[in-house]
Amino acid sequence: MPPVFRFAPSPNGYLHLGHAYSALLNFDRARETGGRLLLRIEDIDATRCRPEFETAIDEDLAWLGIAWETPARRQSEHFADYRAALEKLSALGLVYPAFESRAEIAKLVAAREADGLWLRDPDGAPLYPGDAKSLPADERARLIETGVPYALRLDMAAVCRCVAGLTWSELGEGPGREHGLVAARPEAWGDVILARKETPTSYHLSVVVDDALQGVSEVVRGQDLFHATSVHRLLQVLLDLPAPTYRHHALICDEAGRKLSKSSRSTGLRELRVAGASPVDIRGLVGLG
Ligand code: GLU
Repeated sequence: MPPVFRFAPSPNGYLHLGHAYSALLNFDRARETGGRLLLRIEDIDATRCRPEFETAIDEDLAWLGIAWETPARRQSEHFADYRAALEKLSALGLVYPAFESRAEIAKLVAAREADGLWLRDPDGAPLYPGDAKSLPADERARLIETGVPYALRLDMAAVCRCVAGLTWSELGEGPGREHGLVAARPEAWGDVILARKETPTSYHLSVVVDDALQGVSEVVRGQDLFHATSVHRLLQVLLDLPAPTYRHHALICDEAGRKLSKSSRSTGLRELRVAGASPVDIRGLVGLG
């Protein structure tokens, strides 16, 4: 079976040099190995994703000379798949609804921090500080009945009691130069959100479901997602899905050493193209010349 690669952008802005690097690495790996390259449009956040950005993704990738299999998988068309995975996790008793608003969470975190150090996840966000996990079933049902919004969270402590010693195979490098067999540390993320009342999935859940459904064998993506792989491995085990290998690559930074953002114009592929850059120039700019 040929290896399967994927490039998985979110259509919430225009692509920049960092995306070009990731897409070209995937394309080159697929070519070198006789593999397949898939495109996945990660558009579960309807408030931020727009069709014109998706059109621009197709145009920019084609301009770079990248060829991928069509049609692309658009996540917003597959909520039933994510819902089924969520139901499987719920049936295992590993998911609970948490009703606090963002403001209430911020207040709880401030109170915890005033009492001492409160842990943060690898992205720097405070771990969930609430105690919704211990709400009695009738209180949960009553709150759901009132129609208040809620997030469905993974009971990480319960999961870690039954799953331990997870690893993944890292062909690239983590931010701490991790390589080879890497030990997963999902507990560092606390009770991650798997879905919300109005969106039956999350980045973590849909990426894991899709990588498995699409038969992805090697995930090539930026180092900013290295630590998220711990959660992905955990979900793969809970959902009985195969584990791809991972190749995390360095991020392309601006002159100030900051990660590129979709709003920084000077590194946008469209801007560079209008300024006269060729696809070969873009390869050179990201160090793939
Ligand atoms: N959609 C994610 C992003 O644009 C990438 C997800 C992944 O490669 O796992 O950053």
